Amino acid sequence: MSFRNLNLINPIVRAVTEAGYSKPTEIQYAAVPPILAGRDFIGYAQTGTGKTAAFAMPILQLLKRNTPDHKEIRTLILTPTRELVQQLEESFKVYSKYLPLSQLSIFGGVLSGSQLAALRKRVDILIATPERLLNLVSQRPIDLSKIEILVLDEADRMLDMGFAEDVKKILKLISQKRQTLFFSATMPSEVRKFADAMMNNPVEVTV
Ligand code: AMP
Repeated sequence: MSFRNLNLINPIVRAVTEAGYSKPTEIQYAAVPPILAGRDFIGYAQTGTGKTAAFAMPILQLLKRNTPDHKEIRTLILTPTRELVQQLEESFKVYSKYLPLSQLSIFGGVLSGSQLAALRKRVDILIATPERLLNLVSQRPIDLSKIEILVLDEADRMLDMGFAEDVKKILKLISQKRQTLFFSATMPSEVRKFADAMMNNPVEVTV
């Protein structure tokens, strides 16, 4: 099974091949088709399984496929720590190397000049911790209502760190008509309840 068999487009196959990936990992094989088909998805997958590319590759393809004329943020990726925000930023840069998509990561204190400039132009993919995003939204008129795809990465850690209320507040700013992707290493009952409340008939995969 190759990346091309997963119906991934050339710019993505080329980027991951250049990153040294020869074939999809188990979670990528399981996640790419349903995500490309627009389904909600729950993946029980640890770091190290290739879970980032499992959601990044189909997201990039979906964004490339339907490019609207509006400039609002289209994908939101929430993750619990600034280190994870930075890792996601690096990964998305690698995978989107040959695609005309823009991304912005927010962590830490004030936004830099180039981050502000990016927000004024066009952001296809926003990567943030829940806390930092709410903080930003309280300071600036940022429209999250056009988000097409929401990712909760490391959702169990996000709840452990006390971000449940922040995520709920963010959900209220986002359209119900969205695709939701939920990744968690573990699924205790409170994480399960949290997932069920925000997802629509998800495909579930454990690796
Ligand atoms: P992740 O689980 O997303 O943190 O990825 C773990 C590591 O696997 C990262 O260093 C990725 O660069 C690498 N990786 C992701 N997908 C593949 C693949 N298909 N083949 C080889 N390595 C991969």
